Amino acid sequence: MKKTILTLYAHPDDAETMAGGTLLKWAAEGHAITLCLITGGDKGTADPADSSAAVIARRQAEQARAAARLGAEVITLGYEDGTLQPTLELRRDLVRVMRRVRPDVVVAGDPTVWFRHRTYINHPDHRAAAQAAVEALYPAVKKASIFPELIGEGLEPHVVGEVWLGPTNEPDTWVDIAGVFDEKIALICEHASQFRPGPARAAFERIASEAGRAGGLALAESFRTLRLGASTVQALAGDPAR
Ligand SMILES: [Zn+2]
Repeated sequence: MKKTILTLYAHPDDAETMAGGTLLKWAAEGHAITLCLITGGDKGTADPADSSAAVIARRQAEQARAAARLGAEVITLGYEDGTLQPTLELRRDLVRVMRRVRPDVVVAGDPTVWFRHRTYINHPDHRAAAQAAVEALYPAVKKASIFPELIGEGLEPHVVGEVWLGPTNEPDTWVDIAGVFDEKIALICEHASQFRPGPARAAFERIASEAGRAGGLALAESFRTLRLGASTVQALAGDPAR
């Protein structure tokens, strides 16, 4: 069965760097992918002479090239890069996107991740986006009485079947990306203002090999996954009818 997959991440390039190999495999299997970018990535420059508008335009063009490799639609919410907060406004915007796209699978960050690889403090936008995504998934997206104005927009409640959160420090699911690793690097490098092929390959090879170690794979992306249902009791009971 072809699935509808929606990613919810803060910046252009986040979905590709964090889950790009998995998304490439799903795209090759014919699943429909939508990438939701919460910010325009307007702080993604080292040149103080760059205007926000110029950076956003450049990153939009790069994002379009990356999305084309996935056959994906792109939705941009236009929040400011660098100061994202998990507000009710953002939660409502993410519920709106989920009710419009009606995904079977949502891919987002893990809000509990503060540190990675002993070298990296997780960007606060990544945590804020991940927190807002998780809070939108339960219970607002499936409950009509939360954000009732969305019903007025014709956006009925929706039950997301699976949630894949990554990167994570508590993985339970590993995707073998060895066969698509070169493609993942090419995908990431469509974001040419952010990545150069040599350093990107070295960095993402390290990340993929660290992720793979726990799953017994040479190169992997790993996720914390949730199987949701119309009700939590149903989900916990493993009701096969849901
Ligand atoms: Zn990012």
